[in-house]
Amino acid sequence: MTRRAKIIATIGPSSSTVEMLEKLIRAGMNVARINMSHGTHEGHAQTIANIRQASKNVGWEVGVLCDLQGPKIRVDKLEEPLELKEGEEWVIGQSDVQEKYPEYKNRFIPTVYKDLVKDAHAGAHILFDDGLMEAHAIEKDRDVLKIKIVIGGMLKSNKGINLPNVNVSAPAFTDKDRQDLMFGLKQDVDFFALSFVRKAEEVQEVKYLLHKLKKHTPIISKIEKPEAVENIREIMKVTDMVMIARGDMGVEVGNHHVPTIQKRLIGLCNEEGVPVITATQMLESMTTNSRPTRAEANDVANAIWDGTDAVMLSGESAAGQYPVEAVKMMDNIVEEAEKLPKERPLLRHMDLYSVSASIQVAASIIAEKTKAKWVVSVTQSGNSCLKMSRFRPKVRVLGCTNSKQVMRKMTLYWGISPFYFEENEEDLATLQEQMIDTLKERNLVATGDKVVITHGDGKFFKQGSSNSVRLEIIKEVPNESKKESLKGKSETLQQEIPGGRIILDTSVCASCQNCVQVCPHNIWTVEGENNETRINVETADRCTKDMECVNKCPTGAIEIIDTDL
Ligand code: ATP
Ligand code: MG
Ligand code: MG
Repeated sequence: MTRRAKIIATIGPSSSTVEMLEKLIRAGMNVARINMSHGTHEGHAQTIANIRQASKNVGWEVGVLCDLQGPKIRVDKLEEPLELKEGEEWVIGQSDVQEKYPEYKNRFIPTVYKDLVKDAHAGAHILFDDGLMEAHAIEKDRDVLKIKIVIGGMLKSNKGINLPNVNVSAPAFTDKDRQDLMFGLKQDVDFFALSFVRKAEEVQEVKYLLHKLKKHTPIISKIEKPEAVENIREIMKVTDMVMIARGDMGVEVGNHHVPTIQKRLIGLCNEEGVPVITATQMLESMTTNSRPTRAEANDVANAIWDGTDAVMLSGESAAGQYPVEAVKMMDNIVEEAEKLPKERPLLRHMDLYSVSASIQVAASIIAEKTKAKWVVSVTQSGNSCLKMSRFRPKVRVLGCTNSKQVMRKMTLYWGISPFYFEENEEDLATLQEQMIDTLKERNLVATGDKVVITHGDGKFFKQGSSNSVRLEIIKEVPNESKKESLKGKSETLQQEIPGGRIILDTSVCASCQNCVQVCPHNIWTVEGENNETRINVETADRCTKDMECVNKCPTGAIEIIDTDL
Protein backbone atom coordinates (compact mmCIF):
# COMPACT_ATOMS: atom_id res chain seq x y z
CA MET A 1 0.00 0.00 0.00
CA THR A 2 2.99 2.34 -0.24
CA ARG A 3 2.85 2.96 -3.99
CA ARG A 4 0.81 6.04 -4.95
CA ALA A 5 0.47 5.85 -8.75
CA LYS A 6 -1.85 3.06 -9.91
CA ILE A 7 -1.23 0.09 -12.20
CA ILE A 8 -3.64 -1.02 -14.94
CA ALA A 9 -3.06 -4.43 -16.55
CA THR A 10 -4.78 -5.60 -19.74
CA ILE A 11 -6.30 -9.05 -19.32
CA GLY A 12 -6.14 -11.52 -22.20
CA PRO A 13 -5.37 -15.16 -22.94
CA SER A 14 -2.25 -15.14 -20.70
CA SER A 15 -3.98 -13.78 -17.64
CA SER A 16 -7.71 -14.47 -17.52
CA THR A 17 -7.93 -17.40 -15.08
CA VAL A 18 -8.86 -16.78 -11.44
CA GLU A 19 -5.50 -18.18 -10.38
CA MET A 20 -3.53 -15.80 -12.61
CA LEU A 21 -5.71 -12.85 -11.68
CA GLU A 22 -5.09 -13.48 -7.98
CA LYS A 23 -1.37 -13.38 -8.67
CA LEU A 24 -1.72 -10.15 -10.64
CA ILE A 25 -3.68 -8.53 -7.81
CA ARG A 26 -1.10 -9.58 -5.23
CA ALA A 27 1.65 -8.29 -7.52
CA GLY A 28 0.01 -4.84 -7.53
CA MET A 29 -2.65 -4.63 -10.27
CA ASN A 30 -5.21 -1.98 -9.25
CA VAL A 31 -7.36 -2.01 -12.38
CA ALA A 32 -7.97 -4.77 -14.95
CA ARG A 33 -8.52 -3.64 -18.56
CA ILE A 34 -10.70 -5.53 -20.99
CA ASN A 35 -10.05 -4.61 -24.62
CA MET A 36 -13.28 -4.86 -26.61
CA SER A 37 -11.25 -4.94 -29.86
CA HIS A 38 -10.54 -8.60 -29.18
CA GLY A 39 -12.55 -11.59 -27.97
CA THR A 40 -16.30 -12.07 -27.53
CA HIS A 41 -18.91 -10.83 -25.04
CA GLU A 42 -19.17 -14.31 -23.68
CA GLY A 43 -15.42 -14.51 -23.10
CA HIS A 44 -15.31 -11.02 -21.57
CA ALA A 45 -18.21 -11.83 -19.22
CA GLN A 46 -16.26 -14.86 -17.99
CA THR A 47 -13.09 -12.77 -17.53
CA ILE A 48 -15.00 -10.12 -15.54
CA ALA A 49 -16.52 -12.82 -13.32
CA ASN A 50 -13.02 -14.22 -12.78
CA ILE A 51 -11.67 -10.76 -11.86
CA ARG A 52 -14.42 -10.32 -9.26
CA GLN A 53 -13.78 -13.78 -7.85
CA ALA A 54 -10.02 -13.23 -7.64
CA SER A 55 -10.54 -9.85 -5.99
CA LYS A 56 -12.82 -11.47 -3.43
CA ASN A 57 -10.33 -14.27 -2.76
CA VAL A 58 -7.47 -11.83 -2.20
CA GLY A 59 -9.64 -9.32 -0.33
CA TRP A 60 -8.65 -6.23 -2.35
CA GLU A 61 -10.95 -4.25 -4.62
CA VAL A 62 -9.98 -4.12 -8.28
CA GLY A 63 -11.54 -1.80 -10.86
CA VAL A 64 -12.63 -3.04 -14.29
CA LEU A 65 -11.92 -0.84 -17.32
CA CYS A 66 -13.87 -1.58 -20.50
CA ASP A 67 -11.92 -0.23 -23.47
CA LEU A 68 -14.16 0.49 -26.48
CA GLN A 69 -12.55 -0.02 -29.87
CA GLY A 70 -13.72 3.18 -31.56
CA PRO A 71 -13.26 3.72 -35.31
CA LYS A 72 -10.10 1.64 -35.50
CA ILE A 73 -9.60 0.52 -39.07
CA ARG A 74 -8.60 -3.11 -39.10
CA VAL A 75 -7.68 -5.87 -41.51
CA ASP A 76 -10.58 -8.34 -41.86
CA LYS A 77 -10.29 -12.08 -41.12
CA LEU A 78 -7.63 -13.75 -43.26
CA GLU A 79 -7.30 -17.46 -43.95
CA GLU A 80 -3.57 -17.06 -43.66
CA PRO A 81 -1.16 -14.14 -43.25
CA LEU A 82 -0.39 -12.08 -46.36
CA GLU A 83 3.19 -11.47 -47.36
CA LEU A 84 3.61 -7.87 -48.50
CA LYS A 85 6.80 -7.17 -50.47
CA GLU A 86 8.43 -3.82 -51.17
CA GLY A 87 7.48 -2.37 -54.56
CA GLU A 88 4.43 -4.61 -55.09
CA GLU A 89 1.03 -3.23 -56.01
CA TRP A 90 -1.92 -4.34 -53.84
CA VAL A 91 -5.51 -3.23 -53.36
CA ILE A 92 -7.49 -2.65 -50.15
CA GLY A 93 -11.26 -3.05 -50.05
CA GLN A 94 -14.15 -4.70 -48.22
CA SER A 95 -14.14 -8.50 -48.39
CA ASP A 96 -17.31 -8.65 -50.50
CA VAL A 97 -15.82 -6.76 -53.47
CA GLN A 98 -12.90 -9.15 -53.82
CA GLU A 99 -14.66 -11.14 -56.59
CA LYS A 100 -14.84 -8.01 -58.76
CA TYR A 101 -11.05 -7.82 -58.87
CA PRO A 102 -9.83 -11.22 -60.07
CA GLU A 103 -6.56 -9.66 -61.27
CA TYR A 104 -5.76 -8.86 -57.61
CA LYS A 105 -6.84 -12.27 -56.34
CA ASN A 106 -3.57 -12.81 -54.48
CA ARG A 107 -2.93 -9.17 -53.68
CA PHE A 108 -6.16 -8.15 -51.96
CA ILE A 109 -6.14 -6.78 -48.38
CA PRO A 110 -9.67 -7.04 -46.94
CA THR A 111 -10.74 -4.40 -44.41
CA VAL A 112 -13.72 -4.15 -42.07
CA TYR A 113 -13.98 -0.38 -42.62
CA LYS A 114 -16.53 0.38 -45.34
CA ASP A 115 -15.52 3.98 -46.11
CA LEU A 116 -11.80 3.47 -46.48
CA VAL A 117 -11.84 4.07 -50.22
CA LYS A 118 -14.13 7.10 -49.87
CA ASP A 119 -11.99 8.71 -47.15
CA ALA A 120 -8.52 8.05 -48.63
CA HIS A 121 -6.87 9.99 -51.43
CA ALA A 122 -4.03 9.33 -53.88
CA GLY A 123 -0.68 9.85 -52.17
CA ALA A 124 -2.08 9.01 -48.71
CA HIS A 125 0.21 7.23 -46.29
CA ILE A 126 -1.01 3.81 -45.12
CA LEU A 127 0.44 1.96 -42.15
CA PHE A 128 -0.25 -1.62 -41.06
CA ASP A 129 0.21 -3.34 -37.68
CA ASP A 130 1.32 -0.32 -35.61
CA GLY A 131 3.45 0.96 -38.48
CA LEU A 132 5.48 -2.22 -39.02
CA MET A 133 4.46 -2.19 -42.69
CA GLU A 134 4.00 0.84 -44.86
CA ALA A 135 2.41 1.71 -48.22
CA HIS A 136 1.22 4.72 -50.17
CA ALA A 137 -2.01 5.09 -52.14
CA ILE A 138 -1.67 5.26 -55.92
CA GLU A 139 -5.30 5.79 -56.93
CA LYS A 140 -8.91 5.00 -56.12
CA ASP A 141 -10.65 2.47 -58.34
CA ARG A 142 -14.40 2.40 -57.58
CA ASP A 143 -14.50 -0.09 -54.65
CA VAL A 144 -10.81 -0.44 -53.88
CA LEU A 145 -7.75 1.62 -53.15
CA LYS A 146 -4.62 0.76 -55.13
CA ILE A 147 -1.49 0.93 -53.04
CA LYS A 148 2.26 0.41 -53.44
CA ILE A 149 4.14 -1.32 -50.63
CA VAL A 150 7.02 0.77 -49.22
CA ILE A 151 7.99 -1.48 -46.30
CA GLY A 152 6.91 -5.11 -46.49
CA GLY A 153 6.20 -7.81 -43.92
CA MET A 154 3.69 -10.47 -42.88
CA LEU A 155 0.20 -9.04 -42.38
CA LYS A 156 -2.10 -10.97 -40.02
CA SER A 157 -5.86 -10.97 -39.35
CA ASN A 158 -7.37 -8.15 -37.34
CA LYS A 159 -4.23 -5.97 -37.36
CA GLY A 160 -4.70 -2.21 -37.33
CA ILE A 161 -4.54 0.09 -40.37
CA ASN A 162 -3.61 3.74 -39.80
CA LEU A 163 -4.15 6.61 -42.25
CA PRO A 164 -2.32 9.48 -40.52
CA ASN A 165 -3.20 12.35 -42.87
CA VAL A 166 -6.66 11.23 -43.85
CA ASN A 167 -9.85 12.61 -42.33
CA VAL A 168 -11.54 9.40 -41.28
CA SER A 169 -15.30 9.93 -41.56
CA ALA A 170 -16.32 7.07 -39.24
CA PRO A 171 -18.06 8.27 -36.06
CA ALA A 172 -15.95 8.13 -32.89
CA PHE A 173 -18.64 6.06 -31.24
CA THR A 174 -19.52 3.19 -33.57
CA ASP A 175 -22.45 0.74 -33.48
CA LYS A 176 -20.11 -1.88 -32.08
CA ASP A 177 -19.07 0.57 -29.34
CA ARG A 178 -22.71 1.14 -28.44
CA GLN A 179 -23.28 -2.62 -28.09
CA ASP A 180 -20.07 -2.98 -26.10
CA LEU A 181 -21.07 -0.10 -23.83
CA MET A 182 -24.43 -1.73 -23.09
CA PHE A 183 -22.59 -4.97 -22.35
CA GLY A 184 -20.20 -3.11 -20.02
CA LEU A 185 -23.07 -1.45 -18.16
CA LYS A 186 -24.73 -4.81 -17.67
CA GLN A 187 -21.46 -6.12 -16.27
CA ASP A 188 -21.24 -3.09 -13.96
CA VAL A 189 -17.74 -2.14 -15.13
CA ASP A 190 -16.07 0.79 -13.39
CA PHE A 191 -14.62 2.80 -16.30
CA PHE A 192 -15.14 3.13 -20.06
CA ALA A 193 -12.31 4.16 -22.38
CA LEU A 194 -13.11 5.76 -25.76
CA SER A 195 -10.59 5.14 -28.54
CA PHE A 196 -9.55 7.62 -31.27
CA VAL A 197 -11.35 10.56 -29.72
CA ARG A 198 -10.91 13.65 -31.92
CA LYS A 199 -12.97 16.34 -30.25
CA ALA A 200 -14.90 17.16 -27.07
CA GLU A 201 -18.32 16.68 -28.72
CA GLU A 202 -17.58 12.99 -29.25
CA VAL A 203 -16.99 12.52 -25.51
CA GLN A 204 -20.06 14.56 -24.66
CA GLU A 205 -22.20 12.36 -26.89
CA VAL A 206 -21.29 9.29 -24.81
CA LYS A 207 -21.67 11.19 -21.53
CA TYR A 208 -25.12 12.23 -22.70
CA LEU A 209 -26.04 8.66 -23.54
CA LEU A 210 -24.91 7.48 -20.08
CA HIS A 211 -26.82 10.33 -18.49
CA LYS A 212 -30.01 9.24 -20.27
CA LEU A 213 -29.45 5.73 -18.95
CA LYS A 214 -28.94 7.21 -15.45
CA LYS A 215 -25.39 5.86 -15.21
CA HIS A 216 -22.32 7.69 -13.99
CA THR A 217 -19.52 5.42 -15.17
CA PRO A 218 -16.41 7.61 -15.64
CA ILE A 219 -15.17 8.12 -19.22
CA ILE A 220 -11.49 7.92 -20.12
CA SER A 221 -10.64 9.68 -23.40
CA LYS A 222 -7.80 7.96 -25.25
CA ILE A 223 -5.59 10.56 -26.89
CA GLU A 224 -4.02 8.97 -29.96
CA LYS A 225 -5.00 11.21 -32.89
CA PRO A 226 -3.23 14.48 -33.75
CA GLU A 227 -6.65 16.22 -33.69
CA ALA A 228 -7.14 15.14 -30.07
CA VAL A 229 -3.77 16.61 -29.08
CA GLU A 230 -4.84 19.89 -30.70
CA ASN A 231 -8.23 19.85 -28.95
CA ILE A 232 -6.94 18.62 -25.60
CA ARG A 233 -8.12 21.62 -23.54
CA GLU A 234 -11.73 21.21 -24.68
CA ILE A 235 -11.57 17.43 -24.23
CA MET A 236 -10.23 17.83 -20.68
CA LYS A 237 -13.26 19.96 -19.79
CA VAL A 238 -15.73 17.15 -20.55
CA THR A 239 -13.85 13.91 -19.91
CA ASP A 240 -13.36 12.29 -16.49
CA MET A 241 -9.87 11.04 -17.25
CA VAL A 242 -7.31 11.02 -20.05
CA MET A 243 -5.24 8.15 -21.43
CA ILE A 244 -2.12 8.84 -23.46
CA ALA A 245 -2.41 5.91 -25.89
CA ARG A 246 1.12 6.01 -27.21
CA GLY A 247 0.83 3.04 -29.60
CA ASP A 248 -1.51 4.46 -32.20
CA MET A 249 -0.31 7.98 -31.39
CA GLY A 250 3.26 7.00 -32.33
CA VAL A 251 2.00 5.58 -35.62
CA GLU A 252 -0.13 8.63 -36.38
CA VAL A 253 2.28 11.43 -35.44
CA GLY A 254 5.68 9.69 -35.47
CA ASN A 255 7.37 8.26 -32.38
CA HIS A 256 9.79 11.18 -32.12
CA HIS A 257 6.87 13.44 -31.12
CA VAL A 258 5.45 11.11 -28.46
CA PRO A 259 7.70 11.94 -25.44
CA THR A 260 7.06 15.68 -25.79
CA ILE A 261 3.32 15.18 -26.22
CA GLN A 262 3.30 12.88 -23.17
CA LYS A 263 5.05 15.45 -20.97
CA ARG A 264 2.82 18.26 -22.19
CA LEU A 265 -0.45 16.34 -21.75
CA ILE A 266 0.46 15.12 -18.27
CA GLY A 267 1.39 18.68 -17.28
CA LEU A 268 -1.95 20.03 -18.52
CA CYS A 269 -3.93 17.25 -16.85
CA ASN A 270 -2.13 17.80 -13.53
CA GLU A 271 -2.87 21.52 -13.73
CA GLU A 272 -6.56 20.94 -14.34
CA GLY A 273 -6.83 18.04 -11.91
CA VAL A 274 -7.80 15.48 -14.56
CA PRO A 275 -6.39 12.00 -13.76
CA VAL A 276 -4.10 10.82 -16.56
CA ILE A 277 -2.94 7.34 -17.57
CA THR A 278 0.25 6.63 -19.53
CA ALA A 279 -0.21 3.57 -21.73
CA THR A 280 1.31 1.22 -24.29
CA GLN A 281 4.61 -0.62 -24.60
CA MET A 282 5.84 0.46 -21.19
CA LEU A 283 7.57 -2.90 -20.57
CA GLU A 284 7.07 -4.29 -24.08
CA SER A 285 10.11 -6.61 -24.06
CA MET A 286 8.61 -8.44 -21.06
CA THR A 287 6.13 -9.98 -23.51
CA THR A 288 8.87 -12.53 -24.15
CA ASN A 289 11.58 -11.78 -21.53
CA SER A 290 11.42 -12.05 -17.77
CA ARG A 291 13.20 -8.70 -17.41
CA PRO A 292 12.63 -5.34 -19.07
CA THR A 293 15.28 -3.31 -20.84
CA ARG A 294 16.80 -0.46 -18.90
CA ALA A 295 15.18 1.97 -21.36
CA GLU A 296 11.76 0.52 -20.47
CA ALA A 297 12.44 0.87 -16.74
CA ASN A 298 13.37 4.51 -17.42
CA ASP A 299 10.19 4.99 -19.42
CA VAL A 300 7.99 3.88 -16.50
CA ALA A 301 9.94 5.99 -13.99
CA ASN A 302 9.86 9.05 -16.24
CA ALA A 303 6.08 8.79 -16.64
CA ILE A 304 5.88 8.89 -12.83
CA TRP A 305 8.16 11.93 -12.67
CA ASP A 306 6.13 13.58 -15.42
CA GLY A 307 3.23 13.28 -12.97
CA THR A 308 1.07 10.46 -14.38
CA ASP A 309 -1.69 9.08 -12.12
CA ALA A 310 -1.45 5.57 -13.52
CA VAL A 311 0.69 3.42 -15.80
CA MET A 312 -0.61 0.60 -17.96
CA LEU A 313 0.45 -2.78 -19.33
CA SER A 314 -1.04 -4.00 -22.64
CA GLY A 315 0.29 -7.04 -24.53
CA GLU A 316 2.76 -7.73 -21.66
CA SER A 317 -0.05 -8.85 -19.36
CA ALA A 318 -2.68 -9.83 -21.97
CA ALA A 319 -0.73 -12.07 -24.28
CA GLY A 320 2.82 -12.21 -22.90
CA GLN A 321 4.79 -14.96 -21.19
CA TYR A 322 5.43 -13.03 -17.95
CA PRO A 323 2.26 -11.18 -16.86
CA VAL A 324 2.90 -11.45 -13.11
CA GLU A 325 6.56 -10.51 -13.42
CA ALA A 326 5.58 -7.49 -15.53
CA VAL A 327 3.17 -6.19 -12.87
CA LYS A 328 5.73 -6.82 -10.11
CA MET A 329 8.42 -5.06 -12.11
CA MET A 330 6.16 -2.08 -12.72
CA ASP A 331 5.28 -1.96 -9.02
CA ASN A 332 8.98 -1.94 -8.07
CA ILE A 333 9.95 0.72 -10.59
CA VAL A 334 7.09 3.01 -9.56
CA GLU A 335 7.80 2.60 -5.87
CA GLU A 336 11.46 3.50 -6.37
CA ALA A 337 10.64 6.44 -8.64
CA GLU A 338 8.25 7.82 -6.05
CA LYS A 339 11.03 7.99 -3.46
CA LEU A 340 12.46 11.04 -5.23
CA PRO A 341 10.83 14.11 -3.72
CA LYS A 342 8.49 15.75 -6.19
CA GLU A 343 7.11 19.27 -6.30
CA ARG A 344 3.46 19.38 -5.47
CA PRO A 345 0.91 21.69 -7.14
CA LEU A 346 1.16 25.16 -5.61
CA LEU A 347 -1.70 26.14 -3.33
CA ARG A 348 -2.30 29.26 -5.38
CA HIS A 349 -2.83 27.08 -8.44
CA MET A 350 -5.42 24.89 -6.75
CA ASP A 351 -9.08 25.65 -7.19
CA LEU A 352 -10.06 25.81 -3.53
CA TYR A 353 -13.35 27.57 -3.98
CA SER A 354 -15.42 24.51 -3.08
CA VAL A 355 -15.65 23.74 0.64
CA SER A 356 -14.78 20.09 0.22
CA ALA A 357 -11.67 20.82 -1.90
CA SER A 358 -10.43 23.21 0.81
CA ILE A 359 -11.15 20.69 3.53
CA GLN A 360 -9.28 17.95 1.68
CA VAL A 361 -6.24 20.12 1.04
CA ALA A 362 -6.25 21.38 4.65
CA ALA A 363 -6.44 17.79 5.89
CA SER A 364 -3.43 16.76 3.82
CA ILE A 365 -1.40 19.72 5.06
CA ILE A 366 -2.34 19.06 8.70
CA ALA A 367 -1.45 15.38 8.27
CA GLU A 368 1.88 16.24 6.74
CA LYS A 369 2.83 18.83 9.37
CA THR A 370 1.80 16.68 12.33
CA LYS A 371 3.46 13.60 10.78
CA ALA A 372 0.17 11.73 10.83
CA LYS A 373 0.03 8.08 9.80
CA TRP A 374 -3.11 8.37 7.66
CA VAL A 375 -5.65 10.74 6.30
CA VAL A 376 -9.04 9.06 6.48
CA SER A 377 -11.28 10.74 3.94
CA VAL A 378 -14.89 9.73 4.41
CA THR A 379 -16.61 9.92 1.05
CA GLN A 380 -19.97 9.07 -0.43
CA SER A 381 -19.28 9.48 -4.14
CA GLY A 382 -15.46 9.39 -4.16
CA ASN A 383 -15.36 13.03 -5.28
CA SER A 384 -13.70 14.37 -2.16
CA CYS A 385 -10.98 11.73 -2.57
CA LEU A 386 -10.45 12.81 -6.16
CA LYS A 387 -9.96 16.38 -4.92
CA MET A 388 -7.48 15.14 -2.33
CA SER A 389 -5.64 13.12 -4.97
CA ARG A 390 -5.13 16.21 -7.17
CA PHE A 391 -3.15 17.85 -4.37
CA ARG A 392 -0.72 14.88 -4.30
CA PRO A 393 -0.90 14.42 -0.49
CA LYS A 394 2.36 13.33 1.17
CA VAL A 395 0.54 11.29 3.82
CA ARG A 396 -1.28 8.18 2.62
CA VAL A 397 -5.03 8.47 2.28
CA LEU A 398 -7.68 5.90 3.11
CA GLY A 399 -10.69 6.61 0.91
CA CYS A 400 -13.35 5.44 3.29
CA THR A 401 -16.75 4.46 1.90
CA ASN A 402 -19.65 2.10 2.49
CA SER A 403 -20.00 1.36 -1.24
CA LYS A 404 -18.01 -1.29 -3.10
CA GLN A 405 -18.73 0.56 -6.33
CA VAL A 406 -17.13 3.76 -5.02
CA MET A 407 -14.18 1.73 -3.75
CA ARG A 408 -13.63 0.37 -7.26
CA LYS A 409 -13.84 3.85 -8.76
CA MET A 410 -11.11 5.00 -6.37
CA THR A 411 -8.76 2.20 -7.51
CA LEU A 412 -7.54 4.64 -10.20
CA TYR A 413 -7.09 7.68 -7.91
CA TRP A 414 -3.45 8.53 -7.22
CA GLY A 415 -2.50 8.05 -3.54
CA ILE A 416 -5.93 6.83 -2.41
CA SER A 417 -6.33 3.38 -0.86
CA PRO A 418 -9.99 2.37 -0.99
CA PHE A 419 -11.22 1.39 2.46
CA TYR A 420 -14.56 -0.21 3.33
CA PHE A 421 -16.47 0.94 6.40
CA GLU A 422 -20.05 0.07 7.15
CA GLU A 423 -22.27 2.75 8.60
CA ASN A 424 -24.63 1.24 11.13
CA GLU A 425 -24.85 4.07 13.63
CA GLU A 426 -26.50 7.46 13.48
CA ASP A 427 -24.30 9.17 16.02
CA LEU A 428 -21.22 10.83 14.57
CA ALA A 429 -19.03 10.44 17.67
CA THR A 430 -19.78 6.72 17.86
CA LEU A 431 -19.08 6.32 14.17
CA GLN A 432 -15.69 7.97 14.59
CA GLU A 433 -14.87 5.65 17.46
CA GLN A 434 -15.89 2.66 15.38
CA MET A 435 -13.73 3.91 12.54
CA ILE A 436 -10.69 4.14 14.84
CA ASP A 437 -11.48 0.66 16.17
CA THR A 438 -11.57 -0.67 12.61
CA LEU A 439 -8.14 0.86 11.92
CA LYS A 440 -6.83 -0.80 15.10
CA GLU A 441 -8.31 -4.17 14.19
CA ARG A 442 -6.69 -4.06 10.76
CA ASN A 443 -3.33 -3.16 12.33
CA LEU A 444 -3.21 0.08 10.40
CA VAL A 445 -2.41 2.15 13.48
CA ALA A 446 -0.40 1.82 16.69
CA THR A 447 -0.65 3.73 19.93
CA GLY A 448 0.50 7.29 19.52
CA ASP A 449 -0.17 7.45 15.77
CA LYS A 450 -2.03 10.46 14.53
CA VAL A 451 -4.90 10.13 12.08
CA VAL A 452 -6.58 13.04 10.29
CA ILE A 453 -10.24 12.40 9.53
CA THR A 454 -12.40 14.44 7.15
CA HIS A 455 -16.13 14.00 6.92
CA GLY A 456 -19.40 15.87 6.60
CA ASP A 457 -22.12 16.76 9.10
CA GLY A 458 -24.89 14.49 10.09
CA LYS A 459 -24.69 11.15 8.42
CA PHE A 460 -21.17 9.96 7.73
CA PHE A 461 -21.61 9.16 4.06
CA LYS A 462 -23.57 12.12 2.82
CA GLN A 463 -22.83 13.47 -0.59
CA GLY A 464 -21.04 16.74 -1.18
CA SER A 465 -20.80 17.77 2.42
CA SER A 466 -17.28 17.07 3.57
CA ASN A 467 -16.76 20.06 5.84
CA SER A 468 -14.75 19.10 8.90
CA VAL A 469 -11.24 17.98 9.72
CA ARG A 470 -10.34 16.23 12.92
CA LEU A 471 -7.02 15.02 14.29
CA GLU A 472 -7.15 11.89 16.43
CA ILE A 473 -4.28 10.50 18.46
CA ILE A 474 -4.57 6.75 18.77
CA LYS A 475 -4.61 5.39 22.31
CA GLU A 476 -4.16 1.97 23.80
CA VAL A 477 -3.71 -0.40 20.95
CA PRO A 478 -2.76 -3.81 22.30
CA ASN A 479 0.20 -3.96 19.98
CA GLU A 480 2.20 -7.16 20.34
CA SER A 481 5.25 -5.95 18.46
CA LYS A 482 5.48 -2.80 20.52
CA LYS A 483 5.13 -4.79 23.75
CA GLU A 484 7.86 -7.06 22.48
CA SER A 485 10.19 -4.16 21.79
CA LEU A 486 9.54 -2.73 25.23
CA LYS A 487 10.30 -6.01 26.95
CA GLY A 488 13.00 -5.62 29.56
CA LYS A 489 12.54 -1.86 29.52
CA SER A 490 10.36 -0.32 32.16
CA GLU A 491 7.18 0.94 30.51
CA THR A 492 6.45 3.31 33.37
CA LEU A 493 8.91 6.00 34.38
CA GLN A 494 8.50 7.41 37.88
CA GLN A 495 10.13 10.40 39.52
CA GLU A 496 9.73 11.42 43.16
CA ILE A 497 9.10 15.14 43.64
CA PRO A 498 8.46 17.17 46.83
CA GLY A 499 4.98 16.14 47.99
CA GLY A 500 4.32 13.65 45.22
CA ARG A 501 5.39 11.69 42.16
CA ILE A 502 5.41 12.15 38.36
CA ILE A 503 4.53 9.05 36.33
CA LEU A 504 4.98 8.63 32.57
CA ASP A 505 3.67 5.51 30.84
CA THR A 506 5.96 5.33 27.79
CA SER A 507 3.91 2.59 26.18
CA VAL A 508 1.03 4.96 25.55
CA CYS A 509 2.98 8.22 25.14
CA ALA A 510 2.36 9.66 21.65
CA SER A 511 5.52 11.82 21.74
CA CYS A 512 3.30 14.74 20.79
CA GLN A 513 5.38 16.99 23.05
CA ASN A 514 2.41 18.94 24.35
CA CYS A 515 3.83 18.50 27.85
CA VAL A 516 7.23 19.82 26.76
CA GLN A 517 5.53 22.94 25.43
CA VAL A 518 3.28 23.70 28.40
CA CYS A 519 5.77 23.11 31.23
CA PRO A 520 7.59 26.35 32.13
CA HIS A 521 10.09 24.45 34.33
CA ASN A 522 11.58 22.26 31.59
CA ILE A 523 10.56 19.09 33.44
CA TRP A 524 9.76 17.34 30.17
CA THR A 525 12.51 16.66 27.64
CA VAL A 526 12.84 14.92 24.30
CA GLU A 527 15.39 12.17 23.79
CA GLY A 528 16.70 9.88 21.09
CA GLU A 529 16.04 9.40 17.39
CA ASN A 530 12.32 8.84 17.84
CA ASN A 531 11.84 12.01 19.89
CA GLU A 532 10.74 10.09 22.95
CA THR A 533 9.43 12.14 25.84
CA ARG A 534 11.25 11.73 29.19
CA ILE A 535 11.21 13.24 32.69
CA ASN A 536 14.15 15.52 33.36
CA VAL A 537 15.48 14.28 36.71
CA GLU A 538 17.45 17.50 37.30
CA THR A 539 14.46 19.83 37.09
CA ALA A 540 11.65 17.55 38.32
CA ASP A 541 11.54 19.00 41.84
CA ARG A 542 10.45 22.36 40.41
CA CYS A 543 7.03 20.81 39.63
CA THR A 544 4.14 22.89 41.02
CA LYS A 545 1.62 20.09 40.35
CA ASP A 546 -0.63 22.51 38.39
CA MET A 547 -1.65 19.51 36.23
CA GLU A 548 -1.26 21.53 33.01
CA CYS A 549 0.75 18.71 31.36
CA VAL A 550 -1.70 16.07 32.53
CA ASN A 551 -4.56 18.03 30.99
CA LYS A 552 -2.73 18.56 27.71
CA CYS A 553 -1.69 14.91 27.34
CA PRO A 554 -3.97 13.41 24.65
CA THR A 555 -3.26 9.78 25.51
CA GLY A 556 -3.37 9.86 29.32
CA ALA A 557 0.29 8.82 29.56
CA ILE A 558 1.11 11.33 32.34
CA GLU A 559 -0.01 11.07 35.90
CA ILE A 560 0.97 13.34 38.82
CA ILE A 561 0.31 12.04 42.31
CA ASP A 562 -0.10 14.83 44.85
CA THR A 563 0.51 13.46 48.36
CA ASP A 564 0.02 16.93 49.92
CA LEU A 565 -3.68 16.75 49.25
P1 ATP B 1 -5.55 -1.08 -28.68
O1 ATP B 1 -5.21 -0.19 -29.81
O2 ATP B 1 -6.94 -0.89 -28.24
O3 ATP B 1 -4.54 -1.04 -27.57
P2 ATP B 1 -4.32 -3.63 -29.35
O4 ATP B 1 -4.61 -4.55 -30.48
O5 ATP B 1 -3.01 -2.91 -29.31
O6 ATP B 1 -5.52 -2.57 -29.30
P3 ATP B 1 -3.93 -4.36 -26.53
O7 ATP B 1 -5.05 -4.22 -25.61
O8 ATP B 1 -2.85 -3.36 -26.50
O9 ATP B 1 -4.52 -4.48 -28.03
O10 ATP B 1 -3.35 -5.82 -26.28
C1 ATP B 1 -2.18 -6.27 -26.91
C2 ATP B 1 -2.41 -7.62 -27.58
O11 ATP B 1 -2.90 -8.59 -26.65
C3 ATP B 1 -3.48 -7.58 -28.68
O12 ATP B 1 -2.98 -7.17 -29.93
C4 ATP B 1 -3.97 -9.01 -28.72
O13 ATP B 1 -3.09 -9.81 -29.50
C5 ATP B 1 -3.85 -9.46 -27.25
N1 ATP B 1 -5.14 -9.39 -26.57
C6 ATP B 1 -5.59 -8.42 -25.75
N2 ATP B 1 -6.81 -8.69 -25.26
C7 ATP B 1 -7.17 -9.87 -25.79
C8 ATP B 1 -8.34 -10.71 -25.69
N3 ATP B 1 -9.39 -10.38 -24.92
N4 ATP B 1 -8.36 -11.86 -26.38
C9 ATP B 1 -7.31 -12.21 -27.16
N5 ATP B 1 -6.19 -11.48 -27.30
C10 ATP B 1 -6.10 -10.33 -26.64
MG1 MG C 1 -5.18 1.88 -29.46
MG1 MG D 1 -2.38 -1.56 -27.65
